[in-house]
Amino acid sequence: MRAARGNIAKAGKPGADCAAGAIRRWRWRLSVVALIVLGVAGCIGPRAMAPNATPAPDTLAFVAAADTTEAKILFGAAKTGSAQRPAPLGSYAKGCLAGAEALPDSGPTWQVMRPSRNRNWAAPQTVDFLQRLSAFAAKQPAWQGLYVGDLSQPRGGPMLSGHASHQIGLDADIWLRPADDLTLTPAQRETLAPLSLRRANGAFVNPSWSKAHHAILRAAAQDPRVARIFIFPGAKVQMCNDETGDRAWLGKVRPWYGHHYHFHVRLRCPGGATGCQDQRPPPDGDGCAEAQRWVDDILNPPPPKPQTRPPRPKPPLALKDLPTACSSVLRSP
Ligand SMILES: [Zn+2]
Repeated sequence: MRAARGNIAKAGKPGADCAAGAIRRWRWRLSVVALIVLGVAGCIGPRAMAPNATPAPDTLAFVAAADTTEAKILFGAAKTGSAQRPAPLGSYAKGCLAGAEALPDSGPTWQVMRPSRNRNWAAPQTVDFLQRLSAFAAKQPAWQGLYVGDLSQPRGGPMLSGHASHQIGLDADIWLRPADDLTLTPAQRETLAPLSLRRANGAFVNPSWSKAHHAILRAAAQDPRVARIFIFPGAKVQMCNDETGDRAWLGKVRPWYGHHYHFHVRLRCPGGATGCQDQRPPPDGDGCAEAQRWVDDILNPPPPKPQTRPPRPKPPLALKDLPTACSSVLRSP
């Protein structure tokens, strides 16, 4: 509304200048007068428009432009969750989150790391999952619980920096550094160094890997709400080699790039969340042979593929690319 009023006010002034010019030139040539009369009509046109008439063309452009605004700018500006029923909307890398809940900054068995990012928002199921998993972690020797990394922004959506996913409140990063002190101040949690658990570029775990890591990852994967867990290939192979019992959970653990400072848990769409789009399930089996092949490729890289044209970078997501309901998530108080 403010933009519409501004346009009409600005359109008034140039109209007055045009009229003065027209009177001065009137005595000289009739043809010139005719031209100037047309000009005056053009100049005063916008002035005659009632405030409630069709908005000026540039106002329409402003409204349309909102749809093509980079979604990360709109969602990155949200400071709190929307006052709506909780609902993940869209898919992990193209969506948003209504009615998000915040994982409290510190709890009996967890602390949120890098709290200034304000990315400790998620679907209620994710918050519950983290609280329960951290209680399990607290039972491991030398662990007090979990250091929790990024979840989602207050209204989900694409982020100004970092992740492509984490958009619908069902993704959570959990630090691999054992949480052995849950009395860290917010300032300490901004700067505490994460711990990398990889060796040989991710082909193996390093000596910081422990049975507790295996137990925590197994507990996470065995939770029926969990769809996938991402971690570096060497860790997956280590768990494949060490597991002596049920192996079904290993299939959910997917080797991936990076992920040596934290593992990433992805929950399924909660029951009844009709606007939420699940990823197809991981292939059957424990996936251990596939992870071993990845490790083999790290150790003995295959010859590079013949030069192909690099893929075109994807344009940033605009609001119009997200589910329609994401507009109301942004507008909600
Ligand atoms: Zn992640």
